[in-house]
Amino acid sequence: MSFESLGLAPALLRALAEQGYAEPTPIQAGAIPVVLEGHDLLAAAQTGTGKTAAFSLPLLQRMSTTEHTAKRPRALVLTPTRELAAQIQDNMRAYGKHLRVSSTTIFGGVSMGPQVQALRRGTDIIIATPGRLVDHMQQRTIDLSGIEVLVLDEADRMLDMGFLPALKRIIGALPKQRQTLLFSATFAPEIKALAMQFMQSPREVSV
Ligand code: AMP
Repeated sequence: MSFESLGLAPALLRALAEQGYAEPTPIQAGAIPVVLEGHDLLAAAQTGTGKTAAFSLPLLQRMSTTEHTAKRPRALVLTPTRELAAQIQDNMRAYGKHLRVSSTTIFGGVSMGPQVQALRRGTDIIIATPGRLVDHMQQRTIDLSGIEVLVLDEADRMLDMGFLPALKRIIGALPKQRQTLLFSATFAPEIKALAMQFMQSPREVSV
């Protein structure tokens, strides 16, 4: 199995080679073609399996191929902690270094001002923790009406941390017509319920 055979663009393949990634991990091999085809995805994968690249690579590819002129964000990644948000952004910058796709992180514990300015300047991808994103929604400093892809990263941890009300509120504000990708260490009943409520005929991949 090679990254080439998964249908990724040359600019991404070049970045992966520069990262020293020789071949896709099982979650990447399973998830990337499904996501590139536009399906919703329910993926069971622990940290360390390469799940970040499994959603970031097809997401970057989609952001880079479609023409867009508006400054509205087109993809939203929700993750439980600021550390994870920063890590996802680092990975996306490395994978997307030969593409023109921008990302912004939104998390609590720091002042709103710089985040508001970054959102005003415009960005393709928002990587956010749920609590702070809701703060921005309440203050009307974020426009989620152009979101085409939603990623729920470590969904089980977000539920454990009590983010269900925030998640419901955020997802309720997104366009109904979108692609939704959910990554979780386990498919507990609450995760299945979330998928039933917010996803459309998701394909399942587990490693
Ligand atoms: P993650 O599960 O997303 O936290 O990724 C775990 C680690 O594996 C990160 O340090 C990635 O940079 C690395 N990684 C992801 N995919 C690959 C790959 N295909 N080959 C080698 N390393 C990888």
